[in-house]
Order: sequence, then structure tokens, then C-alpha cells
Amino acid sequence: MTKQTLSFQAEVAQLLHLVTHSLYSNKEIFLRELISNASDACDKLRFEAINDSGLYESDAELKVKVTFDKDGKTLTISDNGIGMSTQEAIDHLGTIAKSGTKDFVSKLSGDQKADSQLIGQFGVGFYSGFIVADKITVESRRAGMKAEEGVRWISGGAGNFEVEAITRPERGTSVILHLNDDAQDYLAAWKLKSVISKYSDHISLPILMEKEEWKDGELIDPNDEKAGRQPGAMVKTGEWETVNKANAIWARAKKDVTQEQYDEFYKQISHDFEPPLAHTHNRVEGSTEYTQLLYIPGKAPFDLYNREKSAGVKLYVKRVFIMDDAEALLPTYLRFVKGVVDSADLPLNVSRELLQESRDVKAIREGCTKRVLGMLEDLAKNDKLPEANPAADGVTDVQTAEEKAEAEKNVGKYTKFYNEFGAVLKEGLGEDYANKDRIAKLLRFASSTTDSVNVSFADYKARMKEGQQAIYYITADTLAAAKNSPQLEVFKKKGIEVLLMTDRVDEWALNYVHEFDGTPLQSVAKGAVDLGKLQDDAEKKAAEEAAEAFKPLLATLKEALKDKAEDVRVTSRLVDSPACLVVQEHGMSTQLARMLKQAGQTAPEVKPVLEVNPHHPLVKKLDGSVNFYDLAHILFDQALLAEGGLPDDPAAYVKRVNALLV
Ligand code: ADP
Repeated sequence: MTKQTLSFQAEVAQLLHLVTHSLYSNKEIFLRELISNASDACDKLRFEAINDSGLYESDAELKVKVTFDKDGKTLTISDNGIGMSTQEAIDHLGTIAKSGTKDFVSKLSGDQKADSQLIGQFGVGFYSGFIVADKITVESRRAGMKAEEGVRWISGGAGNFEVEAITRPERGTSVILHLNDDAQDYLAAWKLKSVISKYSDHISLPILMEKEEWKDGELIDPNDEKAGRQPGAMVKTGEWETVNKANAIWARAKKDVTQEQYDEFYKQISHDFEPPLAHTHNRVEGSTEYTQLLYIPGKAPFDLYNREKSAGVKLYVKRVFIMDDAEALLPTYLRFVKGVVDSADLPLNVSRELLQESRDVKAIREGCTKRVLGMLEDLAKNDKLPEANPAADGVTDVQTAEEKAEAEKNVGKYTKFYNEFGAVLKEGLGEDYANKDRIAKLLRFASSTTDSVNVSFADYKARMKEGQQAIYYITADTLAAAKNSPQLEVFKKKGIEVLLMTDRVDEWALNYVHEFDGTPLQSVAKGAVDLGKLQDDAEKKAAEEAAEAFKPLLATLKEALKDKAEDVRVTSRLVDSPACLVVQEHGMSTQLARMLKQAGQTAPEVKPVLEVNPHHPLVKKLDGSVNFYDLAHILFDQALLAEGGLPDDPAAYVKRVNALLV
């Protein structure tokens, strides 16, 4: 094969442009990314070698080497991992193989600051080399292939790259960075060591650098020591030293890991720039032994709502990396969690299929789920500073300065979490029956009587009116639609709080929660309104009388609307509006049916119930009206419009209203 020049995939070219123009503020991460790639390559080799030990080629000590050449202005990161074939170099370094790339690129705004955050999340990986290099040469040979089957890949990071065949006896990959003028400080051992220990101490492979020692310069005058010497210099000794701790962070005792190290590890595995909201680190002993180090991120990735997206937990078996994104280790609704699980019991050659069936994995999954929920409960508890709670003698609980500072650090974290991941957490109501109650306690909603969007079921219960027997809620597409919905009118009038639910998932999720702490949940848009003891006898009597008086009218209305409405009845739910739609107690809401339709799914035909307000002039006018049929349909269609729906035949609706206007 001779040299060939190929172009980068369009997304890569775009990404490269951003990398070189936006990421300079945090230059040093390139080293973390390249060392992490080298370490991954070694993990892959170890994994493939489980079934084919020949791949080690009598060089089984996996390691990463970092070397630099001051004169040539190059920095090289080498590994003896799996390596790449020519085709792999073309594919892996010329395209972004990960799914969701298009999504990602479409999210880039051109705003450098915002974009660099996104890039950070996405993980620029290899391409981060171009932050410090104006040219990168990669030389590689795949494990198991012949020395002549090596490849050299060269690019200046603009539109294209070159590949050619080379002979390379050593297995693995060398990434040679031709450092640009602004990055010459990476040609010093102390600088490299400090960056490596900052980011890569936990890499379980040794990272080696060549030892240097100080060598005095030559005597200026060999016959006169007093005349002094030429300048001295650090010179390489030919010996190698390990410059990282080479100790997986999760395998260390908690007390030996600092907060900063935990945060750094998180950033490393999540590609997030910001520290996580919380972490949990435990060694679990018993019938299944494993270590878990799990993190709650502060920010949602751009593809959070893709349920197919894999979880962020890496699986290790006795420190050997087995797989990324082991979704069997956590339920789907906790897919935002990042971290590591290291099992002492699973076989090294465990496959994804096997994971699904393993009893150990089931135990790990349960254990991890509990821990994550526990972390969230702690965050929720500490979201606000405890209110000053003067004891009987007027003395408030004494807090030390440290306790105070610690408490302040946690304020607002749960709110932040919930804004990012609340909707995903709700999926758990349907997905994780065993933990449903714990999840329900973690939910937060907007409400009709407060401006807060952080109302929990418990907050709601604590404020329930005397005689109130249910937790009332309404689901709608937007907060405005929920707040102004006709179904809320009587609740507003009576000052009864209603939870306003506007996440797309709410309607579905609420199907799985029928009560909270013994109090039933009641949609104000389902079933007949039953305010129970909140209505006094006079009101009840008036309602019954109205229903009786309206009987004949209701029958004609029902006949006129028989294709659209399941039933027509009088309600005491409405105050200002003439009519509204509700569904039967256990029916699917019209909103959910609409959502399913929009998503192209088949939804059962739900015919809603039309409820009319007997005190409204429009309703009173209906009786004996000459255009009764048209009025009835307008009434129905308007009720549909008021809750964000569309009439089946909008043109007919317009025609009817116009006829009235004229
Ligand atoms: P990521 O590592 O997140 O997949 P990168 O852009 O860093 O993305 O790397 C792209 C791909 O290039 C990797 O998935 C891997 O297949 C390959 N690669 C990068 N560095 C190495 C290396 N040192 N040895 C072998 N393969 C590598």
C-alpha cells in the first residue's frame, strides 16, 4: 500500500475545528484523553487475550510510556495494547463511530463556551491532541498481525489525513504529537508528571517515563576549575520509572482518597468538566462481593431521553476491565449514573447475555439501585438549610463552622439534579416496583397554590385542608395550560392545592402510583368530581338539584354529541367556564392519547365525558335554542381547545363560530 490521503468525516472536521478553537482554556486534558485511550487499548488486549493468549506475543506486561524530545518538539504516548490495523486507523481516527453523533453535532451552537462544555461531555478523546499539536503522527500495529502490517497515520487536523503501511515490530500504538509553539511547556518531565498524577493516578497500568538526572556542564577551561562550567542540563538515564500510583481508585480505602481525586476520576470517566453532585463508594461483602463507586452528575447528557442509550457504569472483574455501559448493573431509569462496579465473583469472560441472567449481577443491581436512591435521598434532605429551630429555651442548635460550611455546600444540589434528571427518575415508578415508594418520595412538582416547583407529595400532604381525602393533580402539556385549565376552577375557588404535572412522562408514570403514604392520588380531569367533605351539604344539594333539572337537556346534548362524547353530565367542578372534558376514572387521559398519536403509536379511541356548568349563561341558553346542534358542537370543541387539543374537524368548528358571529 502506498500513501493515501483521505478526508475526515464531516462531523470530525467540525469537531476538530471546535477542539482547536474552543478547548484551549483547559489544554492539559489532552494528556488524560490520550493516556485513557492507551489504557483502554491495553484493557481490550487483555480482554481478547482471555481466549487467545498468543496475542501477548511474549510481551505480557502492559504499560503506557510517555516520552518527549526537546529538540524535535515532540511528545509521544505509546502503549503495547491492542493496536490498530490500517482499516481500523482509517475508521477509528477518521470518523466518529459512536451513535448519536449527528445529534451531537446538531446541538453545537457556535457559541464557543457552550460548545466546549458539550464537547467535554461527548469526549473528544483522540482529537484533543490537536489542542496542543499542529500535527499528529500515529504509528500502530494490531496484536496478532505481522510486523509489516503496521500503519502510519498523519494529520494536521484540518480536512484530511494520510495513511501508509509501515513495518513495526512492536505491538500497540504510539501517538506522536508535534507540539505547537504555545505548548512547549509539555517538553518538561515535571510538568508531564504533575498532569499525569492529577488525572491518571487511578489508571491501573503503570505509566512510565524515562528517569532524568542533572548533569553538570563541561568545564569551560579544563585546566581551571574556577573558570566555571557550561550550563548543566537534565539528561535521560535510560532507566524507566512509574509516575502514576497505578492503583484503581475504587480499590483503595475511602480514607485514602481525597474529594479532589474522586472528582477527577468522575471527570475522567464521564468527560464532564464539572464535578459530580454526589458519589458513593462501598465495598460490599456477603454472598456477592463487589466494589461500587457511583456518581450523580450535575448535568444531563444531550441524549438522556434515549432509553436505548446505555448506562454509564463500567464493569470490572477483579480490576480487569470487562465492558463499558453495562446496562445490567442498573435499571434504565438510573441511566444517568456514572461509575464503576468491580466484581470479585463474575468470570472474566462474562458476556452481555450472561450478565442478564447472573444471580450475582441481580444482587449487584439491587445493591447499586439502593445506593443511588440513598444518595438522592441525602441530596433531597440537604437541599435546603435546616430552618433555625429554636428550642424551648430559645437556644438554636449549635453548629460548628465546618458543619455549617458543609451544609451550605449541599444546598440546591437536589434541585439541580431534579431539573436535569427528574423526568427520567419518574420512569422508575413503572419500572421498579420494589422501590416505587422511595421514588415517589423523591418527586417534585409545581402546584396551583405556590410558585414553588419543588413540592413533594409529603409537602402537599402536610398542607392538606381539613377533610380533604385525596392528593389532587392535573397533567397538561405546559405549566400555563395546567394552571389555567377549567378543571381547576372549583379547586381554586375553594383554595385547594392541586399539583401541576407537565412532564411528558407524568401521565404514564402516574398510572403506577395510586396513593402516597395512605392518601389516594386523584386526577382532577378524571372521573366525576368528588370533593367529599370539602363540599358542604348545601352545595351538594344544589348540585343534585341542578343535575335533576338538566336531565332533559343532557339527554338531547348526549344525542347531538354521540360520536364525540361518551357521556354528558352536569358538574360542580366549573366556575367560569361553560364546559370541560374529563375521562372515566380508569380511562387513558385525552392528553396521553394525543401524545401517543403524535408519536405515531396506536392509542385506544378515548371518548371523553363532556361536563357542563349549569350556571354558565351559554349552557343556560342552550335549552330550546334554534341552533342547538351547532352550539352543542361548539361547546364540545371549545372544551377540547381549552385543554390543548384540536377539534377533529377544525374547519367545521370555524364555520360554526363564524355563523354565530355573523
Ligand atoms: P473513544 O476513545 O471515546 O472511543 P477516541 O476519539 O478517543 O474516542 O478514539 C477513537 C477510537 O480510536 C477508539 O475507540 C479506539 O478504537 C481507537 N484508538 C484511539 N487510541 C487508540 C490506541 N492508543 N490504541 C488503539 N486504538 C485506539
